[in-house]
Amino acid sequence: MMPTSPPPDRPNGQPLVRGGSLSHAPDGRLYTLLTSSRQAPTATTMQELWNRVSRQRYPTSWDGVAPGQGRVIYWTAPVSVECGRCHRPVGTYRGYQAGADYGVVEDTARQYRSADPGPAGGHADPLVRGPRPNPPHRLDGMIAKSARQTRIYFRCPRCRTGQPPEPREYERNMHRLGKQLFELETANYVLDDAPRGPGRQ
Ligand SMILES: [Zn+2]
Repeated sequence: MMPTSPPPDRPNGQPLVRGGSLSHAPDGRLYTLLTSSRQAPTATTMQELWNRVSRQRYPTSWDGVAPGQGRVIYWTAPVSVECGRCHRPVGTYRGYQAGADYGVVEDTARQYRSADPGPAGGHADPLVRGPRPNPPHRLDGMIAKSARQTRIYFRCPRCRTGQPPEPREYERNMHRLGKQLFELETANYVLDDAPRGPGRQ
C-alpha cells in the first residue's frame, strides 16, 4: 500500500527537524520558522534543515512578514571559509542562530550519507550522495547534543601536516564560530591556528 501522508518522525537516522521555509524578516534577515520542532538544535539537525529549506522555493509573498509562533532560526549570508596558509577555499558556510544557540552549516543543498549505506533500496534523490571522498570538515564531540559541545575541524584541500602527511585541520567550537559569524557580518572567514575574536570564551 502506498503511503498517502508524510511519514511520522523517524527516530533512526532520519531528519529530526521537519518543515520550515526560508523567508526574509522585515529587517532583511534570513530565517526559517519551525512550528512543530521540539528537538534541541544540533549541528546535524541544523545541517539537515538547511539542506532542506535551501532546496525549496517558497512564495516571495512570505518575505517581509514577521516570524510567527514557533522556533525561529536565523541564518547569516554565505561565508567563504579559507585556509590561512595557502588561502585556498575550504568551503562555503552559514552561521545559524536558534535562540541562545549558535552554530554553522555548510552552504550546500547536497546531502552526503555517512559510510552507512542506509536502508535497502537507497535514495533515489540525486542530491543525496556519498560517502563523500574529501569532506571539507568533520565534527567531533557531543554532536547529537548541542553545538556548544561540538567541535568542527575544517580541512584545507591542499596543506598537509604530520608524518604520514594528513590534511591540515583547523579546530573551532561550533557555537562560538556561529556566534562569531553573526557578529563579524563577513563574507570571508580566514582560518588560522589561534582562534581569537569576540566569540572566544
Ligand atoms: Zn592550506
